[in-house]
Amino acid sequence: MKGIVYLVGAGPGDPGLITVRGLDLLQRADAVVYDRLVHPSLLESVPQQAERHFVGKRTDCHSMPQEEINALLVKLGGEGKVVVRLKGGDPFVFGRGGEEGLELAAAGIPFEVVPGVTAGVAAAAYAGIPVTHRNIATQCLLVTAHEAVGKDESQVAWSQLAALDHTTLVGYMGVKTFPEVVAELLRGGKDPATPAALVASGTTPAQRAVTGTLSTIVAAGKQAGVKPPAIFVIGETVSLANDLAWFGRHPLFGKRLVVTRARDQASALAQPLLALGAEVIQMPVIRTEPLPVGEELRDHLVGDEWDWIVFSSENGVRHFMDALRMERLDARILAGAKIAVVGSGTGNRLRTLGLEPDFMPSSFTTRSLADELNETVRGGLAGKRVLRVGPELDPDPLVDRLVELDAEVSALRVYRITGGTPLPEMVADLKRHGADGCLFTSGSTVRRFFEVLGRQTARAILTEARAFAIGPVTAKVLEEEGASRIVIAEEHSIPGLLRLVRKSLCSGGE
Ligand code: SAH
Repeated sequence: MKGIVYLVGAGPGDPGLITVRGLDLLQRADAVVYDRLVHPSLLESVPQQAERHFVGKRTDCHSMPQEEINALLVKLGGEGKVVVRLKGGDPFVFGRGGEEGLELAAAGIPFEVVPGVTAGVAAAAYAGIPVTHRNIATQCLLVTAHEAVGKDESQVAWSQLAALDHTTLVGYMGVKTFPEVVAELLRGGKDPATPAALVASGTTPAQRAVTGTLSTIVAAGKQAGVKPPAIFVIGETVSLANDLAWFGRHPLFGKRLVVTRARDQASALAQPLLALGAEVIQMPVIRTEPLPVGEELRDHLVGDEWDWIVFSSENGVRHFMDALRMERLDARILAGAKIAVVGSGTGNRLRTLGLEPDFMPSSFTTRSLADELNETVRGGLAGKRVLRVGPELDPDPLVDRLVELDAEVSALRVYRITGGTPLPEMVADLKRHGADGCLFTSGSTVRRFFEVLGRQTARAILTEARAFAIGPVTAKVLEEEGASRIVIAEEHSIPGLLRLVRKSLCSGGE
């Protein structure tokens, strides 16, 4: 069977700017070949079992030579794999995608191109610069400034470009040569008052945009410490940025936040944070695994009667329902019992199944769940038959508390919490750049976070970053592990945790 290679544009930096088709292919890839400008969170979509080949530049060594990348693509395609060659921006805009395509064509490997949002247009847009505009710029020129300027071998005739009116010049790979480019344009007769901009790390939380004119922009760029990757934009439309610059106005813009939840649950936290402009670093340090409970489930539920069934997590509800389904049972089996949930998230999960919780404590902790339930139930929980549905836990504080309250307790363990596998790219990114905050939704995620990163590194990260705990139990584990900047959500729920992050990090925080 012949494989196929997709040359996919990953977009300019903001992971949301990959195309729908690109993302779809990533989710189906057998192998992914990617380079440095690709955002690590895009790799989250790649199936666990897929091969990942990083061919970009690491900090202290060189990137893989282009011939080797070409050979790798031909080899993987030849092995019959669905290969995604993920490239920054658009694969055919200064991306050497053309060369890779030619090589594949020569080798007879089928390939397709999935265009991407190119940095020159996107970084400009995020800085509020339209590359064309009616009556102002009728053409836009994407140009590489990588070449030595003013030398014979330069293929770009800068002095001729200087003569073009109503034109926006967008330069790639030109941080180093920028002063020469500007000098050459001025020599060619370009008006020194022409608006000009440099946009570094465009569309990412690290975006830096500097604007000025041809006569001021070099100094302004130097002063701002503009570093690659950056584009330059020269032309009248640059001045529209005064009114059009929009990026960076989100309340959590520029904040790096770590989400430590299991992969399948992370989006409830990640999506709202992204919408607020934060950069989200996914670190699924835990994973839940269903436990085979068939027999036990029947023993506990068929023909048995419970006063209360107690759920302490969304996962508990989810895995319980899955287990019921596997046994060809359904929610009617719960008809005789009342249901208590620890908080709003668990309650909402239950509601999606058409079941309304009978009890939810005022404070969303397992301790309050037991204590408040005890106060609410006529005669207390003493002697009441309570089935606690939840994870495998030893000790299990909820069971212990229910026993102390003299309830007749039985536990049905429907899932287990085990180690998740954060992407090495994400771990490396976090170690290198740190974060502004790490969000923890349970004690077990805290413990695993410290294990995955190593105690020392985790502690170092949490000296800089705030540790956002969903509740007191999580906070206590953070304290035990040596985190110092711990803050606790007032309401122990996901919305409560998000409110806390907003309060702490927007408009200066503490
Ligand atoms: N194929 C890519 C370009 C690769 S060449 C595309 O279509 O965007 C690499 C150059 O792209 C960098 O030197 C820089 O000039 C530009 N670039 C890439 N990402 C960028 C970003 N986030 N912000 C500004 N410029 C970027």
